[in-house]
Amino acid sequence: MVWGCADQGGHSSAAQVLVAGGGIGGMAAGIACARQGHTVRVFEQYGVLGDVGAGVQLGPNATRILQSWGLLEALTPLASQPENLVVRSVSTGRILATLPLGATTVKRYGAPYLCVHRADLHRVLADSLSQMADVSIRVGRSVVELDDTEEEGVCMRVGDDPPVQGDVLVGADGLWSLTRQALLSDGAPQPTGHVAYRAMVSMADLAPALRDQNVTVWLGPHVHVVQYPVRAGESMNVVVAAQAPFSGVAQWWDNATPAFEVKNALGNTCKALADMIASVPDERGIDHPDAWLAWQLFERPPVAGPDEMARRRVALLGDAAHPMFPYLAQGAGMAIEDAQALGRALSMHALNVPQQLRHYALNRWERNAFVQQRAKRNGDIFHADGFKRVGRDLAMWAMGAKLLDQPWLYGYEAGTSLLAK
Ligand SMILES: Cc1cc2nc3c(=O)[nH]c(=O)nc-3n(C[C@H](O)[C@H](O)[C@H](O)COP(=O)(O)OP(=O)(O)OC[C@H]3O[C@@H](n4cnc5c(N)ncnc54)[C@H](O)[C@@H]3O)c2cc1C
Repeated sequence: MVWGCADQGGHSSAAQVLVAGGGIGGMAAGIACARQGHTVRVFEQYGVLGDVGAGVQLGPNATRILQSWGLLEALTPLASQPENLVVRSVSTGRILATLPLGATTVKRYGAPYLCVHRADLHRVLADSLSQMADVSIRVGRSVVELDDTEEEGVCMRVGDDPPVQGDVLVGADGLWSLTRQALLSDGAPQPTGHVAYRAMVSMADLAPALRDQNVTVWLGPHVHVVQYPVRAGESMNVVVAAQAPFSGVAQWWDNATPAFEVKNALGNTCKALADMIASVPDERGIDHPDAWLAWQLFERPPVAGPDEMARRRVALLGDAAHPMFPYLAQGAGMAIEDAQALGRALSMHALNVPQQLRHYALNRWERNAFVQQRAKRNGDIFHADGFKRVGRDLAMWAMGAKLLDQPWLYGYEAGTSLLAK
């Protein structure tokens, strides 16, 4: 190895799994690997775990995995289980289509459609992982360098600590992944010109007519809005996603934005939506920690082959491997699917580690590429204008729930089929 890892112990069928990044994907990967009896060490750059982010929708493809890990008991009381997904017009408020969720989703897909606060999901994952055997979670530890050129192991430098060695390195270090650059050297993700403005409002602060427990997606030309309840229905998560041809918005979570900027991005709306937007406090501050934050959206081309998901002893997972538009609400879902597939691959004891990771990559790359493409396409459909918009609305009127349901997505079982479209 170029800068030398001390050999840190014997080798057995239990692998030493190093995880760079302790977000949703890193925690999920840790759980999936620890469940197979592997030793797991997670390194997270931030000193405090997880209280960032806003709402996350989890389709049954993701909750089925959490269910199989025994986590739904802890997560469900913190989440909301909406009865319907309702699609409406931004300008008129007219309902374009409705998809029943709730018990219908459970019956059809064997697991619920949940809406959660990211911090709650992260806490449930982190608590579960920290209680498993042979697991350590180190916070305030930035992975700064890695070396996977040796046959017998992978070596990683974390801050100023002595290098650590493992059998497998999981790059779950998000959009700006250092692991990805060490593996693929393909440069930074590209700005999309789309911005997501996110806010959270206490349900008690909303006028009674606005206290909706459904997921509502409002469609307008070049913009859409998604709102859904989280925290057992106590808060409403609101996201305005707009095509904005500027790049002044930083990449971080905490880019506070005054309400007028969001209203400008949204343009004219029906009264119901205007009332919802007006319910968000004007400016973020100590009294209003959940007012508008702007989040510039970045992308990479869809995964082009298994080599982009894993090489030798290093696997990429979640946003590090396949950042995507949030328009299919599947970024966290795909990270959880990746984690399950990785755990399964590392349970194949007849294979060596590079073969196991190859198996993981072959299982995941097409599925992730397809979901990336569909998420982007959803943006085009959501933001349609002119004739395209008329065609979309007609199709919604004619097909309703059939058009909104996604069996290829929600019915997928990781590891059983490559694509299950
Ligand atoms: C507006 C918006 C709405 C969304 N809505 C949904 C939704 O409804 N449903 C859904 O499934 N997904 C949604 N997503 C996507 C989802 O949030 C992400 O895809 C998901 O959180 C990715 O998880 P991750 O663990 O791969 O990356 P991250 O959550 O980014 O975690 C990466 C972690 O790695 C750490 N890290 C980075 N570099 C290093 C380093 N060098 N050393 C150590 N640690 C490091 C970071 O601090 C971070 O904790 C949404 C995204 C956006 C922007």
